[in-house]
Formats: sequence, structure tokens, C-alpha cells
Amino acid sequence: MASDRRRRLPSVDLILRSEPGARAASSVGRAVLKREVARAIEEYRAEVEAGAEVPIADEILARAAGRASRIVRGLTPVINATGVVVHTNLGRAPLADAAVRAVTRVARSYSDLEVDRDSGRRGTRSGRAEALLATLTGAEAALVVNNGAAALMVALAALAKGKQVLVSRGELIEIGGEFRIPDIMRASGARLVEVGTTNRTRIADYRGAATDRLGAILKVHPSNYRVVGFTASTTTKDLAALARANDVPLIYDVGSGLLDTERGFPGDEPSMREALEQGADLVLASGDKLLGGPQAGCVVGRADLVARLRTHPIARAVRVDKLQIAALEATLALHARGEHGAVPVHHMLHASADVVGKRAHLLAETIGGDLEGAHVVHSEAVVGGGSMPGAGLASWAVEMKVADPPAFAARLRTGAPSVFCRMDEGRVLLDCRTVTDEQVHDLARAVHYALEADDIDDD
Ligand SMILES: *Cc1c(COP(=O)(O)O)cnc(C)c1O
Repeated sequence: MASDRRRRLPSVDLILRSEPGARAASSVGRAVLKREVARAIEEYRAEVEAGAEVPIADEILARAAGRASRIVRGLTPVINATGVVVHTNLGRAPLADAAVRAVTRVARSYSDLEVDRDSGRRGTRSGRAEALLATLTGAEAALVVNNGAAALMVALAALAKGKQVLVSRGELIEIGGEFRIPDIMRASGARLVEVGTTNRTRIADYRGAATDRLGAILKVHPSNYRVVGFTASTTTKDLAALARANDVPLIYDVGSGLLDTERGFPGDEPSMREALEQGADLVLASGDKLLGGPQAGCVVGRADLVARLRTHPIARAVRVDKLQIAALEATLALHARGEHGAVPVHHMLHASADVVGKRAHLLAETIGGDLEGAHVVHSEAVVGGGSMPGAGLASWAVEMKVADPPAFAARLRTGAPSVFCRMDEGRVLLDCRTVTDEQVHDLARAVHYALEADDIDDD
């Protein structure tokens, strides 16, 4: 019976040859539409088998064409009203204007990416960014690769392949579901030696685990969680001394890319400069977290070690693209000039609660002062991106009282402009720390659109 009904599903060809099918194909490209139609038919086949009605051709086409157009439209800007400043799923750090200009300047033309204009000879693509990184962190040398995970991969492969690397059990972290220290270590060819326990690791544990097969000691900033309570960890200084006694490097993955200790950042977020001063031989970090730039992996430290990483084949495999380089150079130049406030991540993190509160009131007013459903409330924003877990930032949000919060949030996401809000114990919050003043009107418009749909649903 079910197999009879299944057979009544239209074919891919029939849908593509129909008039609406041909129209959709001309707007998204026939090959893209064809793939999505085939996928949609497969899905409907399973649904029909489970007892659903056989869909008409238009229904299948609508599902397929919707997906095809989202694919060809590509990345869509969204308004981040989650209050998570470095939001990995929303693209981490928004770039500074100067970085955007630097990207567009070189994107449409040739550039001196790998050539020295004075001598006409070959130059290095990341040399300028590396000079800035070294200067800003007080390092002997620097290397830039594609991302933080690649920086760790190349460091371990170049310095500790086939050798043992000591890591505290409290630091065997997973970030964002894909980045796991033990997996990266295995892939690099280094051999992980777990030291201590989850909550307590002492210098004696490291000392006891060190053998003549030792290649490096690795310290990882446990970015996205904190071990609290009965804990003990080892200081960078003690680890550096032990590494030196064993004639191996201390590699410190600080994660966030805070260049220097700056005003307003909680003291337990290690900066790259501080990590070097405390004796780390190599310090690794991401470019698109607290540094506020594009995706990149930053390595700073001893010149002899950086040179070994630079010439390793993996470094070539994970090199940065010219657009990343342009954005990174411009972001680092802002930090070098002391213009940290021009870097959006820093601007958002350092905005006073008052400024954020004014923005929340403006948003509530723009949505409609008389609207009963919109209230300004206290909220707590977070740094995100695996930085400073537990360190909330005092913030203000507009709370929306709606009949069906998950459905309202879904309409915000799929609207134009698209908005991501925060769901907090079933409440819909629009946190204004991560919203810019320029976005307030668009955000209010998106809310109205989602509210109208809310009314329609209630009818
Ligand atoms: C974020 C993070 C990474 C991964 O960096 P990506 O740039 O995302 O590859 C590695 N280590 C730590 C400690 C991190 O916080």
C-alpha cells in the first residue's frame, strides 16, 4: 500500500520542466535546484512511507527552491541580540571599519602580497602582520597561520612529533564540539601524556611524568569553563622552569588572543605578552576572538622555535589568505596606535552599562513605547568565544512578552533583517550590548514583522 502511494511522487524531471520549476531554475541555477529537488523528493518519500499525504509538485518545488535560494544567496548578515560578544556561530569578531577597507582595497586588485617592493625580490605574505604581533606582545618572533587549531597543530608537529607532550587533565578541553586537544595532538604525531587529575595538577605531577622522550610541555587556557572548588593548577613560571630543566619548550595556548593586559578585562584572562613574560616559549591564540580581527592563528615567542614552525610543511598547508592578512594587519595596526575602541569586540566589551541601557531604552521606544510587550530589563552579557567563562558583563535588554517565544525567535531568525535573540528560561531577550546604535531601527522593524506574524498565528 505505502509503496503504491510512494510511486505517485513526481519525478525530478517533471518538476524541473514545469513552468514554476523553470522559473526557479533560472533564478538559482538549474544544477543547484535539481540537487535540492532530488533531496526534497527523498524526504517526502520517507514522510509518505510514514503515512503522510503525497505532496503536490508545487509543495516539493517550494521546499527545494527555498533551500536553493538560501544556498546561492550565501552568507547573510544578522543582528546579534544574544549578548554573546564573541559568538562563534555568528562569525565571532565583526571587523573594524579600517579592516573592512583594507580587505576591499586588495580584494579587487593585485597586491604586494609576497614581494618586497624595494628589492623586487620575494617577500613573506604574513611578514607585516608578524612584525606587528611581535611588537605588540614583546615577542622575538611571530607566525600567522589559518586559525588557532592550526597553530597548535603545526607547533606540536614541528616541535614534538613522536615525542611526549605533558598536559594537565584539567586542560584537555573541547571547544565548539570540534576542537579537542587530544585529537589535535594525535593528528600532529605528538604523544599525549595526561598529568594530574581534572581538578588538581601540581608541578610534582608534571615532574613525575617527564621522561627522556619528552618533546614539550603544553599549557592550555581552559577557555570555556572553569574548574572551581577544590582545585590546584600550576603556574606558568613553574612550568617554564621545569621545561627549561628538561630542555624542552613550554607551549601555552591562551586561546583568546588578548595581546596585552588591558583595562576592563578580568585578571584571569591571560594575555599573550603576560604569558611570554612568565616564561612560555611559544604562545598561541586565535585572531577572531579578543584580538577582534579575522580568523587566524597567531604564534609568538622564541625566534628559533618560530623558525622551525615556519618551515614545517603543515605551515604551508594552513597558510593565511590575502584577505585574512589584510584584515589582520589593519586590526593589529589599530591596536598598535592604541585605538582599541575602533575594534568592535573591544568597543562592545568596554561599553558602560549606562550606554547599553540607553540603547535598550531607545530600542524599546522604537519598537513602540505604548507596546505592552516590550520592557527594558537588566541582563548579563558574556564575552563568549571560549573566553572568560563565568565573567558576566552587566547589560540591558528588551524583554518581549509574546505568546509563543520559540516561534517568535524563529521568525526573528528567518526575517529580514535576521535577528538572533537570547532565550532565557523561556523569556525572549534582545540584549543591547552586542547591538550597535545603527542597528536599532532595523532591529525594531524586524521585531514588528515578527510580532505581526505572532498576531496572525493567534487568529
Ligand atoms: C578558540 C580556541 C582554540 C581554537 O582556535 P580556532 O581559531 O577556533 O581554531 C584553541 N585553543 C583555545 C584555548 C581556544 O580558546
